[in-house]
Amino acid sequence: MLGQQVNRVMALGEWEERWQEDKIGFHQPTIHKMLEIHLDKVLSGRVAVRFLLPLCGKAVDMKWLADLGHFVVGVEISEKAIRQFFEENNMMYSEELGPSIPGGKVFKNSEKNISLYQCNLFDFSSSVGGRFGAIWDRGSLVAINPKDREKYADLMVSLMDGDCRYLLDTFLYNPDSYSGPPFFVPDEQIHSLFGRSCNVEMLQSVDALTDKQRAWGLDFFTESVHLITPKTG
Ligand code: SAH
Repeated sequence: MLGQQVNRVMALGEWEERWQEDKIGFHQPTIHKMLEIHLDKVLSGRVAVRFLLPLCGKAVDMKWLADLGHFVVGVEISEKAIRQFFEENNMMYSEELGPSIPGGKVFKNSEKNISLYQCNLFDFSSSVGGRFGAIWDRGSLVAINPKDREKYADLMVSLMDGDCRYLLDTFLYNPDSYSGPPFFVPDEQIHSLFGRSCNVEMLQSVDALTDKQRAWGLDFFTESVHLITPKTG
């Protein structure tokens, strides 16, 4: 069902090269619309929630969430992305070698409500960063190699607190016309990845085709947003 993307592999070094060469077309200068629209559903009345942003890049959503009083943890392989995040948002930050992540580092703003782990996501775990009350997954499940999706879903589930609310943003398009990233994630796969331990609810599905995707050779491009919550939660 994944077409030619099933065996597509992007090495971590390729992502770091993209950052070095400023080929970061995925970065958005404004808060993501889907997060804004669905934040109340994610919070569900809670305040000061611990948010995880896996594969965070330098998403401005992290500053927005922290300014709203939440605690933000991001995981990103590119040190350049992390430094740019703090510098572009005029935040002072500290840097330390990551406890329990070989070769990894943790960068924190002075208020300590944003902690960005510079490491491979698959070296991150609840023993490194604790568990989370919310996950905002934009450009993450769609960016990891398709063959790693089960490992990824198991990791996300292991990072969820009992009351965690996980907002997932994915795309539907013809995977034989464009090789990604973002990679194509069929809605049925979201159910097969998470459905055993979590409730999976589709919140929104919109036509997101723009000239950018037309230039990739696509004639349809649908953005889906799902809310994933532990069955016991
Ligand atoms: N969520 C961000 C970035 C999406 S692009 C946004 O919305 O803008 C995917 C990001 O994940 C890139 O910044 C890339 O450097 C990083 N990345 C890719 N694979 C990774 C991995 N296995 N571990 C950590 N970071 C990774």
